[in-house]
Amino acid sequence: MNLTVKVFIGLLVGLLVGLAINVAGLNSSGSFTQVYLIDGLFFTIGKLFVNALKMLVVPLVLFSLISGVVGIGDIRMLGRVGGKSFTLYIATTAIAIALALFMATLFNVGVGVDASTTDTFTGGSAPSFAEVVTNIVPANPIQAMAKSDMLSVIFYSVVFGVCLLAVAKEASGVVSLVEQLNTVMMKMVELVMHFAPYAVFCLIAKAIAEMGFKLFEELLLYVGVLGFVLLFHGFVILPVILKFLSGLNPLVFLSKIRAAQLFAFSTASSGATIPVTLRSVEKRMGVNGSVASFTVPFGATINMDGTAMMQGVATVFVANVYGIDLGLSDYLVIILMAVLASIGTAGVPGVGLVMLTMVFNQVNLPIEGIALVMSVDRLMDMIRTAVNITGDAVVTCIVAKSENKLDQSIYANPHAGTMEEQEAS
Ligand code: ASP
Repeated sequence: MNLTVKVFIGLLVGLLVGLAINVAGLNSSGSFTQVYLIDGLFFTIGKLFVNALKMLVVPLVLFSLISGVVGIGDIRMLGRVGGKSFTLYIATTAIAIALALFMATLFNVGVGVDASTTDTFTGGSAPSFAEVVTNIVPANPIQAMAKSDMLSVIFYSVVFGVCLLAVAKEASGVVSLVEQLNTVMMKMVELVMHFAPYAVFCLIAKAIAEMGFKLFEELLLYVGVLGFVLLFHGFVILPVILKFLSGLNPLVFLSKIRAAQLFAFSTASSGATIPVTLRSVEKRMGVNGSVASFTVPFGATINMDGTAMMQGVATVFVANVYGIDLGLSDYLVIILMAVLASIGTAGVPGVGLVMLTMVFNQVNLPIEGIALVMSVDRLMDMIRTAVNITGDAVVTCIVAKSENKLDQSIYANPHAGTMEEQEAS
């Protein structure tokens, strides 16, 4: 049985166990199941796994990007990869949110829903645009790495890689050291992935056990429309964009991205999924490390199609609940703000709601309205994170193909880069 299948089984069993606990009411606070199982065993194993993934991210991005830049050997290509990926990330996010706004308006989500809720939401502050831009250059690279500031880490690695390339002859030891460290990091990714089936079981069982399903009724249309647009974007629009812009077979893509999608779904964090996304596009789809090591962490930070979709549907929902009319200019502002918001915030669980504050402020919607959708946000977060990383991988493949940095024989080979194949070789 291959690893993706095992992870999928872990997910399904987790879903069933979580549901059983939930339906049987065993999740009440202080109960034996809640203390020892949900917040005990499930929490501990899930958290250990997410920590293990996160522990890989910074060194993996650092070494793979430095060796990627050295591997390109041509600085102009780096500029092109940066320009193309940035443009595509912004364009796909804008398409995503426009689709979400259209569908939410079509179905009138939120009309007739009562504005009272027991949840409260105090808006966090999203970083300002100037802050985002100035933070790209880290005053202290060690601090940037310690805080997992992805844009700063990317910037530092690129500059380091470019300079290493310039002195490659004198510093050939460093070149091979970084390449070897990169190989070690990839091995660590594989090691951590082996634990995924059990960890995914725990993550999902805990998430589902804690969900409040009764609230779903009021939010049925919100969940339905958002769930639909997310899946439609992830499984139809993005693969069609892939086919259209690169000619690559979208069905092959979907089968090879599944493992990363499952990780993203279970962890609700694009950032923590970087190692798995990177591995999938490089080893399974044949994208050269020189492109993927840049576009994947870059995408995990600035590209959030699924998050933007949630923001679109949530904005229409809250506006309808409060009976506030949104005009065409408001829709344009929402699209612009959601795209900007997704650039500055890292892919971590729940950050989409914080970013929503930014959008609401611009179109004068009441921030407390966000509390209305909070009860279902965990589930929506899981789905949208899987869509977010699908967008990262689609753009990575398109850019790599356009630069002749995608090995089509690997892409076409269904067994390429599976853990089983790796172990056999
Ligand atoms: N959890 C999402 C991600 O990591 C961000 C969000 O929508 O909250 O991509």
